[in-house]
Amino acid sequence: MQTPISFEFFPPKTDEQREQLDKVALRLKKLSPEYVSCTFGAGGSTLDYTPETVQRLHHTHGLDAAPHISCVGGTRAELGALLQRYKDMGCRRIVALRGDLPSGMGHTGDFRYATDLVEFIRREHDGFFHIEVGCYPETHPQSEHAMADLKHFKAKIDAGADGAITQYFYNADAYFRFVDDARKLGVTVPIVPGIMPISNFSQLRRFSETCGAEIPRWIGKRMLAYGDDVEAIRDFAADFVADLCRRLVDGGAPALHFYTLNLSKPTLSVLSRLG
Ligand code: FAD
Repeated sequence: MQTPISFEFFPPKTDEQREQLDKVALRLKKLSPEYVSCTFGAGGSTLDYTPETVQRLHHTHGLDAAPHISCVGGTRAELGALLQRYKDMGCRRIVALRGDLPSGMGHTGDFRYATDLVEFIRREHDGFFHIEVGCYPETHPQSEHAMADLKHFKAKIDAGADGAITQYFYNADAYFRFVDDARKLGVTVPIVPGIMPISNFSQLRRFSETCGAEIPRWIGKRMLAYGDDVEAIRDFAADFVADLCRRLVDGGAPALHFYTLNLSKPTLSVLSRLG
């Protein structure tokens, strides 16, 4: 497969987790990703961990590392300092998000939506950063309706984003339709599908309920039918996600972005099936 790929990690907080990420980064580096990205805890819960991890991926592993920045709960000054830190590290790509404020955190910060953050980055750093934003083929869960969400997505691109990565999904048609609709609105930037390989199905099901991704009923039924047969579940999941990737690439997806959850096996099982 010639399609560019990228990998997403979360920032480790303990030495054990750091060792794990080092191993995963070494294994996945062999697949020559275009870049890797590192998530950011909304409200600042990973304010130091994300830059540390980006630094490690960038300098120790020699990967082009893109930090995520979520603006909710942050002030202009804090976000400005973080951007300067990344600029000093030599990062050229940023994934700019709103984030979801953890419950109990009162202060929503200086920015309301990801669009505001994109505008801020463009204003403060002009063309230095390549900015990716998030988008939702199955509609963001807090959006009033699908077309409003699409318009808000377009606003992020108009504010200066260079590309978009989708929330994960398992319905290829939702992606194709979303891309068609975005193109009709005049969005021309690459829209890269976010791919979630399946490692822990019950965890995935819980997470999907809150993040705006649907697991088709027949997949849930199949998973249930395999019971405790872990091998069968893994094989089925990797086959299914590899088929999804094939359909997306054949249908024109410009690249694939893998949510690794700091594990190499589920992603490698999918990619090995794609050749
Ligand atoms: P926005 O684009 O701001 O949209 C949020 C909601 O507000 C949507 O419903 C949108 O329709 C609506 N909206 C936007 N503008 C307006 C407006 N002007 N008026 C009214 N409504 C509006 N979260 C993290 O905390 N850390 C991460 O590292 C992280 N990485 C992610 C990576 C990707 C690729 C994706 C897809 C998501 C990621 N998330 C992350 C999750 C994300 O932060 C949440 O989905 C969050 O709820 C929305 O973020 P956003 O940037 O898409 O928000």
